[in-house]
Amino acid sequence: MSYPSFVPHWIADAEVPSMGGATFDKRCPIDDRVVAQVARGGAAEVAHALSSADGAAEAWAQTPAPRRGAILGRAAQLLREREQEFGEIIQAETGKPWKNAVAEVGSSADLATFMEGEGSRFYGKTMPSPIPNRTVQTVRSPIGICAAIMPFNSPLAGVAWKVFPALLCGNAVVVKSHELTPHTAVAFGRLLKDAGLPVGLYSAVQGSGPDAGAPLVQDNRVGVVSFTGSSATGKLIQKMVSERSVLAKVCLELGGKNPFVVCDDADLELAADLAVASAFIDAGQRCASGSRLIVFDSVYDVFRQALLDRVARMRVGSGPDDECGPVISRASLDRLVAQVAGAVSRGATLLAGGSAIAALAPGYYMAPTVLEGAKPSDEVSQHELFGPVTCLYRCRDFDDAVRLANGTSYGLTGAIHTSSHHRAQAFVARYRGGLVSVNGATFGAGPHMPFGGVKNSGNGFREPGTESLDVYTELKTVVINHNPERL
Ligand code: NAD
Repeated sequence: MSYPSFVPHWIADAEVPSMGGATFDKRCPIDDRVVAQVARGGAAEVAHALSSADGAAEAWAQTPAPRRGAILGRAAQLLREREQEFGEIIQAETGKPWKNAVAEVGSSADLATFMEGEGSRFYGKTMPSPIPNRTVQTVRSPIGICAAIMPFNSPLAGVAWKVFPALLCGNAVVVKSHELTPHTAVAFGRLLKDAGLPVGLYSAVQGSGPDAGAPLVQDNRVGVVSFTGSSATGKLIQKMVSERSVLAKVCLELGGKNPFVVCDDADLELAADLAVASAFIDAGQRCASGSRLIVFDSVYDVFRQALLDRVARMRVGSGPDDECGPVISRASLDRLVAQVAGAVSRGATLLAGGSAIAALAPGYYMAPTVLEGAKPSDEVSQHELFGPVTCLYRCRDFDDAVRLANGTSYGLTGAIHTSSHHRAQAFVARYRGGLVSVNGATFGAGPHMPFGGVKNSGNGFREPGTESLDVYTELKTVVINHNPERL
């Protein structure tokens, strides 16, 4: 497996250790082995990365967008060539089954290809003015330096989703790697270097949120902070930025508690297959995972049985044919088991799972877990768990389903299973979220489409898609007057 025994920072196109040599352990979720020592960064490494970004940003901003895009095109090609290497890194860091690890490499390459094309479009608009001899238009300006704060669940897609659009838009980027998936961002730096990205435009700093993330977010030179992670940390980041002496744009991509509605006219076999995929792919560690299955009363028992049959057949492990890998850490596993036990102690019934899989210990594997009977107001129904746990809820009818679907503080994704075009359209209109899937899983729009949430799931921005240009550029309105008498 291509995993180094030491994971450094990546600054100014070079691997660098921490000043003072401090490190922390990286453990593999598959077997709990310490696979690497990771450089423990802080304010000094952040300052180094920011000054290297500062020195490179101006020339890059003046490079024509199609030329910036061409470098992303080369990065796409290199990603495809290095699928095996990146797949192995992702698997060592997260323990994902192989097909899920390499799927991330493919979708990241697809995104780079899409963003390359955006360099040639780079949309602004021209509009008529009511004033004679005046032209009004918008152009996109780079922001300068982007801070990108990473989650752990899809390490390569997480970096690609932010860094490709940010670079295409003419910015320098400093990534704060997730402490549990540190090497992906370093391998990504080497890939960008090989693709021809000028030195200094991309850095990755290792370390904890408070040590390495906070000084990055608090630095006035950072013009856009793009954060993906939990709603609690997202709110903290927004607060930190608002306390700076110079404000910055803050893009928050946060958690979800995503409803999966099964109506009485649904294809129940298809719905059961996709409920399992929604809940358990990546061990439920997806912002878009289907953690609330809301089922019409009249088909509840049949759907429940179909679901439990599939859950019983799920292959848990990290091999080529497995479907559900481990969770990211021992701490996550212990927390999830305790949260499920807590829900049971408050009246929920455990239908499947609920515990660590002893045969796969010391790997952090949790049996796919299904609960029923939890109150919609219970914390297990209200808070994102970020693990292989889903809950079944009964609903009376369509209105009741919509009420339950909207009944949390989150609003990321939602799915409805129905053969009624009318119900599907009404759900699209009435579910308050950033993505609705009809007869599908709770995710799956693709890297060329905008993604993001409402309420505690986000603050209005969308990444990636063309809409990510709105995160990483400022629109400048240009007013041009001319005088036909001076020809
Ligand atoms: P987290 O909030 O614990 O950590 C995210 C990042 O923030 C980490 O890199 C962490 O080091 C950093 N951080 C923590 N404290 C900080 C501080 N004080 N200052 C600066 N940075 C700080 O989230 P996580 O558990 O790593 O990731 C899982 C979460 O991410 C889930 O809630 C999931 O739903 C969400 N997520 C959302 C999306 C989306 O697109 N909406 C995608 C993937 C994951």
